[in-house]
Amino acid sequence: MQTTEKTLTEQSPVEIDTQLAALYADRNSMAHKLDIAVKHLASTKEEMERQSAANPTYRHYYYNQDRLDELTAEVAQLKADLARVIAEIAPFNAEFIRRGGWTRAFLVVSSMGGHVHSSMECSTCRQDTGFHWRPELSDHDELEIIAAAGERACTVCYPEAPVELIAKPTSIFSSEEITAAEARIERAAKKAERDAIAAAKLVIHPDGRIIQDRYGRDVKTEATVVTNAVNGLLDTFRHTDTTWPSHWDDAEVATYIADHQGIAERSIVALAHKHGVTVEAETDQIMAKVLPKLVKYLYGSSSYDAAVRREAELKALKAKLKAK
Ligand SMILES: [Zn+2]
Repeated sequence: MQTTEKTLTEQSPVEIDTQLAALYADRNSMAHKLDIAVKHLASTKEEMERQSAANPTYRHYYYNQDRLDELTAEVAQLKADLARVIAEIAPFNAEFIRRGGWTRAFLVVSSMGGHVHSSMECSTCRQDTGFHWRPELSDHDELEIIAAAGERACTVCYPEAPVELIAKPTSIFSSEEITAAEARIERAAKKAERDAIAAAKLVIHPDGRIIQDRYGRDVKTEATVVTNAVNGLLDTFRHTDTTWPSHWDDAEVATYIADHQGIAERSIVALAHKHGVTVEAETDQIMAKVLPKLVKYLYGSSSYDAAVRREAELKALKAKLKAK
């Protein structure tokens, strides 16, 4: 790994540790792969011996000599790779010792949170603990590192850490934590966007209450509130414009009309409020949708006088809206 033209003795602690961090990451991942391959090889050998004892001439489709040779070669390759990385690490470590060392910071993340340590030899860490190097902090003042680590500063590594510094939130995070935090932020932003779109569609009466339909269900979006207003007026006019042939008495009809008119009026007031127009202007918009349906209904129910009157009303309304 050659990231700089400088000789090792000319490189800064940050430069050296940046390379070391990458080399240690390689070493850890190779050691992990080697561990898996060694176990795989052992279990394959074991299985082949078991098969051979049971039936010496049987050749299993997987546990056979070819597979064993393959795994043996893989282990040898991984061992060679690991030895090469360890050899690459050595001169950097020697340079660290030659200069008498410098301050370093390592983050260890666990399910319990995570701590920042001054070295990989901290007694609170198990040997296989995954250390995240923070080379950007190498050779920095210890107080500066403690300040960055905040609540994550290891009290064994930094026994003299000022209480006020380790009481503060940390600014040292692992790349996994940063990725997770970014994903959280992205999800929150998307939710806020969806909420904003939903809120923009939402129509609420100026009294703060949501509009309801005649069945008592909430109607919130502009399209449904418009439908609610149109249906409320249509139901009202079907009664006021015709002689309603029903078993209802006058009081029942009056209640029905009042209910439906009420629903339509609340819807229209809410729409006017959302659109920032007068209730009269909003009523015209709704009536332009109501009247064609009403005229059709009135003709259908043979209420010709009313039909003609509403047709004239529709014509006048269209002219009025066009004139605007
Ligand atoms: Zn420690």
